[in-house]
Amino acid sequence: MKAAVLGPDGLTIETVPDPTPLPDQLVLHTSCAGTCGSDLNAGLFLPHGSVLGHEFSGHIVHVGRDAGSHWRAGQLVTALPALGCGRCAACAGNDPVHCASVRYVGLDAPGGFAEYVAVGGREARLLPDGVNAELGALVEPPAIGLHQLNSAGPVEGKLVVVIGCGPIGLAAVLWAKVFGARAVVASDPVASRRAAAVRAGAELAIDPGADDLATVLRDRFSARADIVVECAGDLIPEAIRIVRRGGTVVVAAMSKRPVGFETKFAHMREVAMVFPSWYHGDEWTTTIDALASGLIEPQWMISHRVGLHDFPQAYADLKQPTDQSKVMIDFTIA
Ligand SMILES: [Zn+2]
Ligand SMILES: [Zn+2]
Repeated sequence: MKAAVLGPDGLTIETVPDPTPLPDQLVLHTSCAGTCGSDLNAGLFLPHGSVLGHEFSGHIVHVGRDAGSHWRAGQLVTALPALGCGRCAACAGNDPVHCASVRYVGLDAPGGFAEYVAVGGREARLLPDGVNAELGALVEPPAIGLHQLNSAGPVEGKLVVVIGCGPIGLAAVLWAKVFGARAVVASDPVASRRAAAVRAGAELAIDPGADDLATVLRDRFSARADIVVECAGDLIPEAIRIVRRGGTVVVAAMSKRPVGFETKFAHMREVAMVFPSWYHGDEWTTTIDALASGLIEPQWMISHRVGLHDFPQAYADLKQPTDQSKVMIDFTIA
């Protein structure tokens, strides 16, 4: 099969062996595969020869002996990008990404930037009517956003601030609106991302270089934030500064370097901080249901659609400052 393979100069299209599935796995003929910020980071530390891609959909072409009797060739599915052991408490609880012996599809197992990909029968999810292949490859970012907000407790009636409006920040905005937040205020220095946050439902999107969040919250809402979702990676001190007493800071983004802050204000305000990671299997099901019913409509996050052969250039372009946000490989494009 053809795959976009990681090498010293980025990705190249190569012919590689087809997947060799285990008995509890399915093989998909990939339909769509999306890029994620983590794909760019993973390209820096994964060995050459790796095949990335953990946001994808495809039709089943092979059902392993122990993959589940409900699976049939031809079904259109997506899958959590995890291969759990199937025996531990995490796997039994539908939480395979936190399985102690998990392997991640697109990291330590070959991913979806290829014509075929092997996924776990337990981790696969059937795409219902209303969720096409492209939407199926878009489940992961909103599932992460859902997990971030679920970690903050009830959202209804709350004033939510989202710092950083990449795909995860935008997903947090989408779900905060679904959950009935009183208002959502987004903050990002990039104008196109602020526009995207408003499109996702934010009442207000501010430029932190021009406006002070705490001042805006006071003037517009006479309040501090109930919940701050920090999706920028190094703005925990800012999140603590703008949250109310007893409020919650969700640290969504992993910082690339140590983040130092005085704990004084966090103590004075008795701030709760949570550090969620990944998502639960149930959150994938909830996200797919929300896509099927039109409760969330994230297709507009896709900025570019390319065929597999043009993908290495699009991947290289993502490393430069760019107007691309989510690049989607559509395997039907030659
Ligand atoms: Zn992702
Ligand atoms: Zn397990």
